[in-house]
Amino acid sequence: MSIKLITETEHLVRDKMIPVPDVVIVGAGFAGSVVARELAQRADKTVLVIEKRRHIGGNAYDHLDAAGVLVHDYGPHIFHTESQRVFEYLSRYTSWRDYQHQVVANIHGRYIPVPFNLNSIELSFDHYKAQQLVTRLIETYGEGRKVPIIELRDQADPLLTELADYVYENVFLGYTKKQWGVTPEEVDPSVTARVPVLVGRDNRYFQDTWQGMPLNGYTALFEALLDHHNITVCTGTDARQLLRFETNGKTGEDGPFTNILFNDKPFNGEVIYTGALDQLCEHRFGILPYRSLDFEFKTLPVKHILPCGTVNYTVSEEYTRITEFTWLTGQDLDVTTIMEEYPCGYEALPGQIPYYAIINEENNRHYQRYLALFSELANFHVVGRLAEYRYYNMDHIVKRALELADELC
Ligand SMILES: Cc1cc2nc3c(=O)[nH]c(=O)nc-3n(C[C@H](O)[C@H](O)[C@H](O)COP(=O)(O)OP(=O)(O)OC[C@H]3O[C@@H](n4cnc5c(N)ncnc54)[C@H](O)[C@@H]3O)c2cc1C
Repeated sequence: MSIKLITETEHLVRDKMIPVPDVVIVGAGFAGSVVARELAQRADKTVLVIEKRRHIGGNAYDHLDAAGVLVHDYGPHIFHTESQRVFEYLSRYTSWRDYQHQVVANIHGRYIPVPFNLNSIELSFDHYKAQQLVTRLIETYGEGRKVPIIELRDQADPLLTELADYVYENVFLGYTKKQWGVTPEEVDPSVTARVPVLVGRDNRYFQDTWQGMPLNGYTALFEALLDHHNITVCTGTDARQLLRFETNGKTGEDGPFTNILFNDKPFNGEVIYTGALDQLCEHRFGILPYRSLDFEFKTLPVKHILPCGTVNYTVSEEYTRITEFTWLTGQDLDVTTIMEEYPCGYEALPGQIPYYAIINEENNRHYQRYLALFSELANFHVVGRLAEYRYYNMDHIVKRALELADELC
């Protein structure tokens, strides 16, 4: 069998060439595709997946470039999880290439492992100071702990504070300023906590039990997920052309929606929405704040140009990091493709992609105002990094999608 995929379908739906489904899903990323598969298979529902891009896979989409390198168009995606359920679930749709991601920071021309760990200390300080720091870290936190940079910085111990200041200046500050366009103090602690110092010698970027890359890439995984006789996928189709929301006489811009219309007819089936709520509401309360990214791809006539999958530029360059895809995919080629990442502001301009929600209390309230508009719609569900205005790794999204499907089945 193969996936039922049609492109630019607004007119087909309008002309009723596509039958009204039991379930409408907006977005063919992990959130939408997992719920689609589960409702199609477990609940025997007919599912229409509407995706505005011309491809499936959301931000995890990958494809072979002109040089034959499997590249990730929306930034490098490395799978890692502590959830056995998620790993076993995805393993139904892909085999895995064993891959343990490594990242180094280029600090004044030297490659230092990150997360900053005991090996990084020995590469960054003289022998005597490094030994002192290693001993003190182990005494204070115990081996294996991941200490968030903010916590380390608050220590009274001058030795640890010196280490914290070094890591803060050389690994964290420049990178975070580039990434968010702000100082680290202005960033939500849940984001800051993602940058730890590891009291150990494990140079892997992730320590999760299950890690790897889909053997034939993410797009092949999505093709397998969406390959079900109950699922139709419409790419190149913006859901806003087909879904409308009515307020049933409730007035005011905060008046909650009471009815969903699909192709101008009342729709009582489930709607799973994985896009941004502000976009769906035509930004009626203004744009939800995001950071965006520009990517620059370069193909070079060498086997490898970097020492590992990703190099972070924490004290120099305009880009935050460079990824070399052949490390991730394991492809043995005579050429290589790298990708530079340039963070930038987000103004919801055509073609601009909201990548990272800027999470703080004010922005959460802004999001909640949008969410409240949908509070009276029992058949409208939000799931995903955009719809929930959160940062989620892929495994978290798969887990949340499976839980939503459990509820709906
Ligand atoms: C640069 C970067 C690197 C990352 N690296 C990793 C990593 O290494 N490991 C990891 O686990 N996670 C990583 N992530 C997180 C990962 O991308 C997300 O967890 C995942 O993409 C979330 O899936 P999703 O379905 O919620 O969202 P998406 O993948 O964004 O899918 C949502 C889909 O909805 C579509 N859509 C939106 N609005 C509409 C509309 N109106 N009509 C039709 N379609 C619409 C969009 O086009 C999109 O395809 C990374 C994220 C970024 C930004």
